[in-house]
Amino acid sequence: MDSKKETHQFKTEVQQLLNLIINSLYSNKDIFLRELISNSSDAIDKLRFQTQTEPDILGDDTEFRIKIVADKEKRTIEVSDNGIGMTSDEVLENIGTIAKSGTAAFLEAMEASKKQDLLTPELIGQFGVGFYSSFIVAEKVTLITRAAGSETATRWESSGDGSFTIEETAKDSRGTTVILNLKKPEKDEQDFTEEWTIRGIIKKHSDFVSYPILMDVEKDEPIPEKEQILDKDNKPVATTRKVRKEETLNSMKAIWARDKKEVSDDEYKEFYKHISHDWNDPLTHIHLKLEGTTEYSMLLYIPSKAPFDMFHQERKHGIQLYCKRVFIMEDCKELLPEYLRFVKGVVDAPDLNLNVSREILQQDRLVRNIHKNVVKKILDLLAGMEKDEYEKFYNEFGPVIKEGTHTDWENKDKIAELIRYKTTKSDGDLVSLATYIENMKPDQKEIYYITGDNLSSLIDSPHLEQLKEKDYEVLLMTDPVDEWVTMSLTEYKEKKLKSAEKGDLDLELDKVDDKKKDEYTALFEYVKSFLEDKVKEVRPSSKLKDSVCCLSGDANDMSAYMEKLLKSSGQEAPGVKRVLEVNVDHPAIAGIKDLFEKDKDNERLKDYSNLLLDMAIIGEGGKVENPSRFSKMVGDLMSNAL
Ligand code: ADP
Repeated sequence: MDSKKETHQFKTEVQQLLNLIINSLYSNKDIFLRELISNSSDAIDKLRFQTQTEPDILGDDTEFRIKIVADKEKRTIEVSDNGIGMTSDEVLENIGTIAKSGTAAFLEAMEASKKQDLLTPELIGQFGVGFYSSFIVAEKVTLITRAAGSETATRWESSGDGSFTIEETAKDSRGTTVILNLKKPEKDEQDFTEEWTIRGIIKKHSDFVSYPILMDVEKDEPIPEKEQILDKDNKPVATTRKVRKEETLNSMKAIWARDKKEVSDDEYKEFYKHISHDWNDPLTHIHLKLEGTTEYSMLLYIPSKAPFDMFHQERKHGIQLYCKRVFIMEDCKELLPEYLRFVKGVVDAPDLNLNVSREILQQDRLVRNIHKNVVKKILDLLAGMEKDEYEKFYNEFGPVIKEGTHTDWENKDKIAELIRYKTTKSDGDLVSLATYIENMKPDQKEIYYITGDNLSSLIDSPHLEQLKEKDYEVLLMTDPVDEWVTMSLTEYKEKKLKSAEKGDLDLELDKVDDKKKDEYTALFEYVKSFLEDKVKEVRPSSKLKDSVCCLSGDANDMSAYMEKLLKSSGQEAPGVKRVLEVNVDHPAIAGIKDLFEKDKDNERLKDYSNLLLDMAIIGEGGKVENPSRFSKMVGDLMSNAL
């Protein structure tokens, strides 16, 4: 970059977010300081990690620290660190964009629905707006940064009004300084240049940050006798004087290394916010110290809200790895399986081999051992939750945890205990498989389910008519991931899971009797001859009661929902032909049979065949091939009937 000052426009979503921050965050303004300190602490962590491979990178500047400087007259507050800093390219990349995918779409929807007033700090916090929270309190923000190992520095500046400037500058030492020009405090509002205000915020939000947070504070110091000025009565005019001295404002106590009994609820919450950059309180946590042959401690949190990018590939994992309270790495995937990627926290393993590289971490015996135990502890924690709390968790992370049935064979049974579904009988409540089995009818042998994307059309699906008639409960599976659940979880406590839309349901009482079946064979072959390239068979149904017909699959066929999912994700679906099941007890079918037996060449038979298929498709919420033909035929039928 040359040294000229360049002006850049913020990306649309950044400016939208800034507007929201500036206009809608009235309470909890003090969190800006926590966010800046967290960023500084992360920047030092990153540098510290780099020293493992590049020990010389620190030069003379080896005492890690974060420094706060406030100026009452100028109304500024500065947060500086001697962390890794940023190059000008990194500034452009990191500051002025929002990394989280999905943010733009969310903000657009928010703006379109004019629901900005529903935006709470917690909701905004879910974006991980960190640095931008400065604009809650500042009218202008300046960031000056010099990357470790670089000679030049970069100055970034913005008033949050659409653009920012960036230029080359000089800086004495490595790291980042963020300077906020504060807005005037409103009436009764705290003044962030006030020493005791800053002290209070740091004590509350950032006490456990593992680097010293320093500030020059005014202190009374005794004046040595020799230097005391005496008045006319030979008495000292003053015995103390004000001096400015650097003081460390945080205790730096690693919260996970402390005794559980000594850590307050608020401290746990604040620590969560520090490591997760989430502004919401966590749902719950576990804090454990393991002693014995392998020693390590863990402090793990379950968030209360799913982040927007939960299903994005490049999403970071939330476990930080420490060794004897020294930060080793963030985003330690090796400690957590994918299906627990929502967990945040810290693992501190004193016996970890510090030279272990990321690549071989996975093979490290200690790491594997910790991984296994972390999974166990979290699954136990979830299993032990009270119903209400568990439902809160499940509503946010249910789809994620279900992935485990497919990927973690070792814990499949435990995960099966954790999954819940709405059912045809639960009236919107979530039901576990264990409860489902408890409520099974005495003659019921299997666990029935149906998959699809729309709960209400599933409840009314024609496939469930006979099951409802028998008063059997059916699990309603509406998550895409459920298709994978049904592939891997074929059995629970010796009861088979059975799709209500595939194969024969084996509902003995309702078997179509063979004589009746035979009566229809000729008609169904005839109907099939019209629909040859669309269905693989036309047969009497054991599922239907009131509906005329439905489409089903053979036991091993792909479900309609799976096919839809594959198509919508742009993948090739094999296009399995389905079975047209017809209700031979329905008067309409008896009517068609009469017509067929009287006049096999009647043109209307072809129309009725097409109509049967279209009705079956519509019955499961699909799209018919030729909607205008369909509606014309229905119109004709109506006029004949009326
Ligand atoms: P987050 O911290 O959640 O990633 P921020 O908007 O706070 O989001 O920061 C964006 C990025 O800017 C950070 O991920 C980091 O790469 C960089 N950054 C912010 N503050 C600093 C700092 N003090 N030192 C170095 N890099 C920083």
